[in-house]
Amino acid sequence: MDNQAAIKKVRTKLKSAKSIAVLTGAGISADSGVPTFRGAEGLWKQYRAEELASPDAFARDPKLVWEWYSWRRELIATKVPNPAHEALVTMARQFPSFVLITQNVDGLHRKAGSEDIVEMHGNIWKVRCTKCSTMTDNHDLPIAYPPECTACGGMLRPHIVWFGESLDPQVMDQCMQALQSCDVLLVIGTSGVVHPAASFAMMAKGAGAYTVEINLDPTPSSGTMDTVINGKAKDVVPLLVS
Ligand code: NAD
Ligand code: ZN
Repeated sequence: MDNQAAIKKVRTKLKSAKSIAVLTGAGISADSGVPTFRGAEGLWKQYRAEELASPDAFARDPKLVWEWYSWRRELIATKVPNPAHEALVTMARQFPSFVLITQNVDGLHRKAGSEDIVEMHGNIWKVRCTKCSTMTDNHDLPIAYPPECTACGGMLRPHIVWFGESLDPQVMDQCMQALQSCDVLLVIGTSGVVHPAASFAMMAKGAGAYTVEINLDPTPSSGTMDTVINGKAKDVVPLLVS
C-alpha cells in the first residue's frame, strides 16, 4: 500500500473509532530538532545514551550524568512543538477516549497543549531525591552541581526511568488499560526496541485494536502492524486529523 492509500485507510478507521491510544517516541520530537538516541546526533562527547542513562553510570559518576542532563535540558529548552505534536492536541478533542502515552522526557507534548499525558519514562524537567524520594519540578539552566534536596539535603537525580530500571506500576496500569480498550493505536516515531513499549502494539492488537505505525523508516515492529506509513511525523500525523 502506498502512503496515500494507507493514510486514507487510517482516516476511515479513525472515523468509526471511539477510543484512541497513541504511543510516541523520540522520532516525533526529532522534527522539532531534539536528537534521537540512535540517530547520528544522539552522542554527547564520546558517550552513547546507554552509557549515561543508567543507575550504574549515576553511581559511578553522578557529575558526568548531571552534565549530560544539563546539556540535554539546554538543547530541549530551545525547541518548540511541531505540527505532529499539535495535531495530537486537536485529535484528542475529537474522540470520547484518547490516551497519549509518550516515551519522551522532553515535555514537548505538554508544551503543545496536550493534557492527560502518560509519561512512561518520566520528565527531564523533574527531579527526585535519592534519599527521601521527594519529587519536584526543576527548570534550572544550567543545573548546578551537586543538586541537593531542599527537604533532606540528599542528592537529586533526574526523574527519569533509566535503562535497567522498571516502570512505575501505576504508569504501567494506565498503559495497559489504554491498550486493552482502544479501537485504534497509533505508534509514532519509536524504534520498537525499548521494552516494554516495543510490545505495546502486539498487546493492543491482541485486544482487537487496529494498529498503525508512523515512522521515518521500517522498524522491527513494522511486520506486525495493520498499517505502516513511512514518513516524517510532522508531515504524516496532521494528515490523519479531520
Ligand atoms: P529511538 O531513538 O530509539 O528511535 C527513534 C525512532 O524515531 C526511530 O525508529 C526513527 O526511525 C524514528 N524517527 C526519526 N526521525 C523521525 C521523524 N522525523 N518522524 C518519524 N519517525 C522518526 O527512540 P525511542 O524508540 O523513542 O526510545 C529511546 C528512548 O530514549 C526512550 O525511552 C526515550 O525516553 C528516550 N529518548 C527521549 C527523547 C526525547 O524526550 N525527545 C530523545 C531521545 C531519546
Ligand atoms: Zn530528600
